[in-house]
Amino acid sequence: MMTTPSRSAIIAGNWKMHYGPEQASLFALEIVPVLGRLAEHYPQLVTVLCPPAISLAAVREVLQTHPFPRIELGAQNMFFEEKGAFTGEISPNMVRELCRYVILGHSERRTYFGETDDMVNKKAQAALQHGLCPIVCIGERLEQYEAGQTEDVIRFQVQQSLADFPAHAVQEVVVAYEPIWAIGTGKAATADGAGKVISLIRRLFEERYGNEAATTLRILYGGSVTSANISEFIAHPDIDGALVGGASITHDFVEIVQKVSETMQR
Ligand code: PEP
Repeated sequence: MMTTPSRSAIIAGNWKMHYGPEQASLFALEIVPVLGRLAEHYPQLVTVLCPPAISLAAVREVLQTHPFPRIELGAQNMFFEEKGAFTGEISPNMVRELCRYVILGHSERRTYFGETDDMVNKKAQAALQHGLCPIVCIGERLEQYEAGQTEDVIRFQVQQSLADFPAHAVQEVVVAYEPIWAIGTGKAATADGAGKVISLIRRLFEERYGNEAATTLRILYGGSVTSANISEFIAHPDIDGALVGGASITHDFVEIVQKVSETMQR
């Protein structure tokens, strides 16, 4: 990536439905001191840990007892309403009490829990209103990729999921381009392929929000990222980091962050 003063790299770990409070705390205790030392040396790098909602407080406690700059906490989802009869949901305010980031519209939420672009957009707007940084996920399915429809799908998702953000908050938005065929499959996109789509997302963002917003927008790649391939992605000028799933609940996550730090040093 080409870090500009306004565009830091982000490596976010989506722990998915792994690690309850006890295990999450133990794992965080293992990785946070190492991540913290890297973070201290690389002010242009932000690391975000996204455990399951029930484990957020436990991981936050670890981050408070081992305070390092730029190691942040993120939720994996939230609802857009403030409060009320929405059993099982968590509100933006509740997330904001513990976190700075929230992943929204992950393809697993869209596929298994029926989330639509409209819902994702409402959630992203609510996140911005509450001072959260939404990491909004978009990406095409395998059959769309194979049919050469990636650009159309991305165009549509940007129009729907990333619509109507207030000008004063748009710089807080993070986009994760996650081709669904690459998630959890071990078949990552190429850096070139992902880079092309990410450049398109930046152009679409520019059309909608102007040059400054597009220049500062952080766009991550996600899909089977490991320490073996992260360097290729991070070296691409338009890719600002990664949303990491499977590898984020192993020590490979530390390796990934280490590799990103090394690339940034060059
Ligand atoms: C994800 O869950 O966002 C993801 C990219 O998963 P994985 O890294 O396992 O492909």
